[in-house]
Amino acid sequence: MREIYLDNSATTQCFPEVAERMRRVLTEEYGNPSSMHHKGVEAEKIVSASRHTLAQILKVKDSEIIFTSCGTESDNLAIIGGALASCRRGKHLITTRIEHPAVLESMKYLESQGYEVTYLPVDKDGLVEPAAVEEAVRGDTILVSIMHTNNEIGAVEPVAEIGRRIKAKNPNTLFHVDAVQGFGKARIYPAKMGIDLLAVSAHKIHGPKGMGFLYKSQKVRLVNLIYGGGQQNGLRSGTENVAGIAGMAMAADMLYRDFDGETAKIRGLKNAFLEEVERFNEELTSKGEEPLIVNGRTGDDSAPHIISLTVPGVRAEVLLHALEDKGIYVSSGSACSSNRPHPSQTLQAIGLPRPYWDNTIRISLSGLNTKEDIAETAAALREIVPFLRRYTRH
Ligand code: PLP
Repeated sequence: MREIYLDNSATTQCFPEVAERMRRVLTEEYGNPSSMHHKGVEAEKIVSASRHTLAQILKVKDSEIIFTSCGTESDNLAIIGGALASCRRGKHLITTRIEHPAVLESMKYLESQGYEVTYLPVDKDGLVEPAAVEEAVRGDTILVSIMHTNNEIGAVEPVAEIGRRIKAKNPNTLFHVDAVQGFGKARIYPAKMGIDLLAVSAHKIHGPKGMGFLYKSQKVRLVNLIYGGGQQNGLRSGTENVAGIAGMAMAADMLYRDFDGETAKIRGLKNAFLEEVERFNEELTSKGEEPLIVNGRTGDDSAPHIISLTVPGVRAEVLLHALEDKGIYVSSGSACSSNRPHPSQTLQAIGLPRPYWDNTIRISLSGLNTKEDIAETAAALREIVPFLRRYTRH
């Protein structure tokens, strides 16, 4: 059976070229970058060159890139490390209700340590109002954390405007952006956007799992969360994952080298899928059946790769497995939530009616998908949805 992988916001297939590069680093250029001999120098060169590649993409300094083990660690280091370093200036932080657990749980930890966190609401499209962020910033606000792209509905937050407003109100407030879903899909220039800290994960951009980085403006001071040998200026001890670093940089370079072509292709697939949903909805409504609902914005102001689809009367989990039977992989709401039994924060925050929380799947695309993938998935939905609805009271 042909495999149609539409869960690219959960993780992506590693580019074969990236995997091959990593294999070479692991088996041939395997030195420890801290070693003083040739093998170490060779490994250190790989780390430096990779750092340079990533810094060039963001238009920042090489020294502002810190390698981490994942997006989650990047978020933790930015938020907890930033708060600990700034605690003498204040103990107030701001975030939104729709952040990834990597951010929300870091905030919860800080609350348990006596910090105060303001959670801002979002509108029906999952967008934060920049004026509301500005209003919430106080003299003792040390850090604001707002995601670039929401992982469940693909809302793209106005981070540049938010950055401007934060700095205008309190130049000392740090601005952290979780760009795990946005990096590779948008051009992000932290220095121009007023972003001090930016979290990225490699496995969402066809790189390896267990690898990420944090951009940290040179003006920002963080307290390290990991203690050890003092690598990366003491901010992130631990022998660098040289193969992971090389793989992440190569994957990012491949995506950004043909950025316009890549994003146009993915958006084209998303638009083709949305057109299929529209046609299917016409058929459903003509039969007096409830149409599907696409959550959030769908135009060029939305993420090119994420579609949140509510199928009233059909449980997401059941639909997910029915699609799986046809070789089609999607996720229910958000894959990161499959460990968490409680309903999606994002779907609640955008005001989706309660009965629909459990009826929502997420389709997330990559440049490796094809028009045929979209056509076959649409055909599968046309077949499966009416069938499953026959067994559901709604
Ligand atoms: N932030 C967002 C928005 C995400 O979507 C994810 C993963 O899905 C993460 C953070 C965590 O990244 P990682 O899996 O690399 O820890």
